[in-house]
This record gives sequence, structure tokens and C-alpha cells, in this order.
Amino acid sequence: MAIRLGNNCGNCDNMMTDQMCKVHGVKVGSHYTCDSFEMKLELNNDRDCNTCLRFQREDCANPSKAAPGMMCSVWAPLSVSA
Ligand code: SF4
Ligand code: SF4
Repeated sequence: MAIRLGNNCGNCDNMMTDQMCKVHGVKVGSHYTCDSFEMKLELNNDRDCNTCLRFQREDCANPSKAAPGMMCSVWAPLSVSA
């Protein structure tokens, strides 16, 4: 199963730059989420072979098919930010 982005405050469009939640008016962090979660638009479509840690490595599950725009079930993030 491919790794996915977590639906947490850190990826939520409602979290402002000072970490305040627009909906609740309190400081939040990536350990939290709620029913008003909205994924930041710029993070929605960044999963393909180009952003996969395994691209052009021996542990790629589909080396003959891997290409930008493709993706398989063992996708793993190339870089991690917290
Ligand atoms: S508390 Fe809910 S609405 Fe606020 S930033 Fe977190 S997930 Fe988004
Ligand atoms: S085919 Fe799968 S494992 Fe290989 S680079 Fe693409 S997403 Fe990653």
C-alpha cells in the first residue's frame, strides 16, 4: 500500500503561517486533525515515480514501467518535511 500524506493540521489549508487554526482560533500542530480538515491544494498531486524514493533504485517494484506521471502501490516519499 502506497504511503499517503496524513490528514493532519500540518497539511490543512486552515492552518495559518503562525500555526493558528482559522476554524477553531487556537494553535495547532501536525499531531492533530478534525472534521474540518482541508488538504492544501498544492500537496494533492505530488505523488508519482518522480517523487518516489525508489525511482531508479534496485528496490523499485516496476523498474521497466517507472516514469514521471506513473505510480504504484509501494510509492514512498522522496523527502520528508515535518
Ligand atoms: S483543527 Fe481542523 S481545521 Fe484546524 S488546522 Fe487542524 S485539521 Fe485544519
Ligand atoms: S514504480 Fe512504484 S516503486 Fe517504482 S518509482 Fe514508481 S512508484 Fe516508486
